[in-house]
Amino acid sequence: MNISRLARAIAESPTFALNEEARILRERGEPVINMSIGEPKNKTPITAILSSATKLSGGDIKYTPPDGTPSLKKAIIRYTEDNYNKVVAPENVIVSAGAKQSIFNILYSIINPQDEVIILAPHWVSYPEMVKMVYGIPVVVTPEDGTFHPRMEDIERAVSSYTKAIIVNSPNNPSGEVFSLDFIAQIVEFCERKKIFLILDDIYHKLVFDGAVWEPAYKYTRADIENTMLIVVNGVAKLYGMTGFRIGWAIANRKLVEVMTNVQGQMTSCTSALLQAAAEGALNGMQSIVENLRLTFQNNKQVVVEELKSFKGVRLNAPKGTFYALPDFRAYIPSSLAKDSVELSQLLLKKALVVTVPGKEFGMEGHLRLSYAGSVKDIKEGIERIKWVLDPTSPNEIYIGDRKLVRDWL
Ligand code: PMP
Repeated sequence: MNISRLARAIAESPTFALNEEARILRERGEPVINMSIGEPKNKTPITAILSSATKLSGGDIKYTPPDGTPSLKKAIIRYTEDNYNKVVAPENVIVSAGAKQSIFNILYSIINPQDEVIILAPHWVSYPEMVKMVYGIPVVVTPEDGTFHPRMEDIERAVSSYTKAIIVNSPNNPSGEVFSLDFIAQIVEFCERKKIFLILDDIYHKLVFDGAVWEPAYKYTRADIENTMLIVVNGVAKLYGMTGFRIGWAIANRKLVEVMTNVQGQMTSCTSALLQAAAEGALNGMQSIVENLRLTFQNNKQVVVEELKSFKGVRLNAPKGTFYALPDFRAYIPSSLAKDSVELSQLLLKKALVVTVPGKEFGMEGHLRLSYAGSVKDIKEGIERIKWVLDPTSPNEIYIGDRKLVRDWL
């Protein structure tokens, strides 16, 4: 087949592939526990439902401006004022089909072939692929001190004359790390001085635990919105549990938003009028929904921390935010059971019907990402099953669904 070299080089999204595998197994009646996907379990906020239902029943669902409806943009501008303490104009805002499209659109609009984009490991699976999709070069920087917190010295060493942008995602998927305010201040200063775009993927920004603090990066720059190198990305997927609505946005200087609008206008025309109405409903509605989700995830995080404490060999940097944890399984890989995190993840699915994501996908071999967006019951049972597969000190027998299984490989 005549598939382009570029398209061929793009990997399948591993999280979506694993999720699909879990769905098929569950459809077959298998008692699968899915700890792979990043998706809150709450119902859609009622204000989002009502707002889109009103739009739908009006029977007038047409194209919108490519950069978003004026009323959704107004809600985003208010959100930015409330949460970022920043006043921006409608011309600084562009609505896209999820934060994912926002990031792709930004990269498409700023990257020339061979430009480099610095990505901080552990990182979201899509960043390197997106950079490749616009003929850029992903430069992955891994903290050399073995933590999940990036260090300026590692970043500065990786910067070259080709560096066009740095992507920062805090609270972080997959580690749950929240970057220090000191680090944010330093990287903002660095990017403004070096004229490197700083893309802030803030999709989890309110999901922080136990007093951890997220602050908008704008706080650390004196440049105004038209001159700053900061580009902010956000959306309704994670904070409102509206992953299926596919609404995200970017905030940047007018020139860049104008270019991104042209790109989007040629590519998708606009995001759905109906779904924009839903996002507007969520942003203008009761914000206690977000706080309730945060409290749920904080509680779930504690369950993960407690359950993993008694797991010999597994080490965890307790997450400070999001709904992910990235425990270190290097005590078990490589071993006769699995040579790496991909094999380990496959083993856990085969033996215990637990879906995890291999750390390799995030630039952190030796680890597995566990999502704790599900129920406490699933989290406890999922970790118990993982222990049963790997830990010889755990009970030899386990019930998975109605089946009693005996471990005979340790
Ligand atoms: N950024 C990060 C770090 C994410 O984890 C995700 C979703 N997994 C996204 C962006 C994409 O969000 P959306 O669903 O709004 O496209």
